Amino acid sequence: MLLNSGETIVRREDVVPYRWGDTTGRGTVYLTSARIVIESPQHGFLQSGHTETVLDLPLRDVGNVAVGLVLRRARYIVIELASGSLRLDVVDPPKWREAVSAARASVPPPHARGPVTHTIERHIVKVRCRHCGTLSDEMLSKCASCGAAL
Ligand SMILES: [Zn+2]
Repeated sequence: MLLNSGETIVRREDVVPYRWGDTTGRGTVYLTSARIVIESPQHGFLQSGHTETVLDLPLRDVGNVAVGLVLRRARYIVIELASGSLRLDVVDPPKWREAVSAARASVPPPHARGPVTHTIERHIVKVRCRHCGTLSDEMLSKCASCGAAL
C-alpha cells in the first residue's frame, strides 16, 4: 500500500468480501484520506508475499454510501461511484459508512486549488422602438431596424 504525500489511512480491514461490477473476491480494504484501495494477496491470505491492487478509487468519485441489511442486520455497505458501485461486506457497516462519508466530505473539490473566477452577469436592457416595434439595446441612440431616435 503506497500512500501519496499528505495521505493518511483512515480505516483498514482484512479479508473483506467485495463485489465490484461482476468481480468478486476478498481483500484488504483501505480507506485513506483520498482513496478507497483494495489489495489482495497473490497467493492467498495465509501466505506472506506480494499483494496486488485490485481497486484504487478516488474518494472524489464517491457518491451515496448505503448500509445493506440482511435479515434486518447491517451486513455490508454499498458505495456508489461515478464508475460503478462497490459492495464491501465489512464487520461494522455503519462505522464504515460514517468513515467513508466523513473522508469524502473532507476531500477538497478539484477547483479549490486553482484561481477563483467570478462570473459577472450583465443584463442587457432592451427598448422598443415607437415606430417599428423592434427591440434594440438601450445603449443605442437610434433604432437598429428603422433608424428612428429611441
Ligand atoms: Zn424602429
